[in-house]
Amino acid sequence: MIYESTRDKDNKVSSMEAIKQGISPEGGLYVPEYIPNIDGKLLKDMVEMNYREKAIKILSMYLDDYDKVDINRCVDKAYSKIKFDSEDIAPIEPVGDNLFALELWHGPTCAFKDIALQLLPHLMTTAVQRTNEQNKLAILTATSGDTGTAALSGFSDVKNTYIVVFYPQDGVSAIQKMQMITQPGLNTHVIGIQGNFDDAQSGVKSIFTNKKIRSSMEHLGYRLSSANSINWGRLVPQIIYYFSSYLDMVKHGWIIYGQPINVVVPTGNFGNILAAYYAKSMGLPINKLICASNTNNVLTEFINTGRYDVQRKFHKTISPSMDILISSNLERLLFEISGRNTEYIQRYMQKLKEDKVYKIDDNILSSIKNVFWAGYATEEQTIGSIKQVYEKYGYVMDPHTAVGYYVYDEYKKITGDSTKTIIACTASPFKFCKPVLNAILGSQALEQNGNEFDMLEKLSQVSGSSIPCSLINLKDKQIIHKDICEKYQMESKILSIFKRMG
Ligand SMILES: *Cc1c(COP(=O)(O)O)cnc(C)c1O
Repeated sequence: MIYESTRDKDNKVSSMEAIKQGISPEGGLYVPEYIPNIDGKLLKDMVEMNYREKAIKILSMYLDDYDKVDINRCVDKAYSKIKFDSEDIAPIEPVGDNLFALELWHGPTCAFKDIALQLLPHLMTTAVQRTNEQNKLAILTATSGDTGTAALSGFSDVKNTYIVVFYPQDGVSAIQKMQMITQPGLNTHVIGIQGNFDDAQSGVKSIFTNKKIRSSMEHLGYRLSSANSINWGRLVPQIIYYFSSYLDMVKHGWIIYGQPINVVVPTGNFGNILAAYYAKSMGLPINKLICASNTNNVLTEFINTGRYDVQRKFHKTISPSMDILISSNLERLLFEISGRNTEYIQRYMQKLKEDKVYKIDDNILSSIKNVFWAGYATEEQTIGSIKQVYEKYGYVMDPHTAVGYYVYDEYKKITGDSTKTIIACTASPFKFCKPVLNAILGSQALEQNGNEFDMLEKLSQVSGSSIPCSLINLKDKQIIHKDICEKYQMESKILSIFKRMG
């Protein structure tokens, strides 16, 4: 299958090249030339498959220049018992009558990013080998907290790759920060920036499109790539779990084969929900995609009015991985919905860069509204949802997932639609134990419990689940990465790191 850039139709590459490059040189994102279809029989045959088998089926449709043997090996390495604490990889369980929790956080860093980032390093190194790439890969990553952790875990000590993570120094949780700055691996670099996620992401994107830096890096023997969801290799593994969860629901008898469902996704960079859109476009019976935001509600306004406006206050919330104003993957959706119109994309992305706002045409807006529904939750509403779901169902949600729950509830009230719904549970509640306990027990009960690391035990008692292994000893781990920089210093930082390594 051929991949093309959303900003230049003449730039066509193989899937290996798309994954190796991460982002197209002119700043566009790679998308598959067409969306493959899963016909009824194939889908039905997949009901009895395990996660790995389903993964191989779907990956092979999109990554058809990869050898079957290579895909099998990548999948076996990524979705193994050592990496995931659930045999099902992404298990699903009912929460109430019509809602089903798709738990995407059973990987090594306790957030959904692991599902893609345990696989991506293997897809990348395979692409490097099979395309006879001479350079090593320098993977630049901007993170709102979870991507950085998951990317470091995935790439640590992977041969011929180097990973550099930029995180907003004051914009991640205590646990997220500890996970990153204690990450071992000779090929890992972690840098705090004085700015927010959008600053980090813009900085990384401008390094990618800077010809001078690219050539300096190549001179040193490195090719730049990305582990953010702008990389197609991040998105395609996320399509799998929408199929897998639907088929699991059929297997359990919770739905009958062919019955449409809704999907609600707590959204930031629009990657996860875009993967659900691809699944729907491939033929998975999805009715509505419900896009849930926190108070950084750019996407809510956009899906309701067609106006994308980043000129607004940036809020730091208890769902920090969604504190994003510029949702990169929206570009891919606009490309698909506008009939793959590169001029259209160029125009709007230029407007976004220069004027910080654009408004899409009405016909495109109505196509979006046919598929998507959007809402947002305030901090109080998020806290209220954690408490409500715990008291009603005994199920503990992390703050990101709780944003999704609130918006799902609103959707039901406003539309009267009671279609069975999958909620993407994007992080383990243990990863955000402070706001979770705060919601369940109240802030007074919390005071005497000290810092976030001491609260893990308490949450274990409250939830009746055990603390994920990777978080248990986190607070005693040695701090390895202490680097910080201003947001305008990111380019020089990169060059100095790689010059030093030679
Ligand atoms: C990254 C992240 C999100 C947002 O996902 P996008 O693909 O960026 O929309 C939501 N919740 C958690 C816990 C995350 O780590």
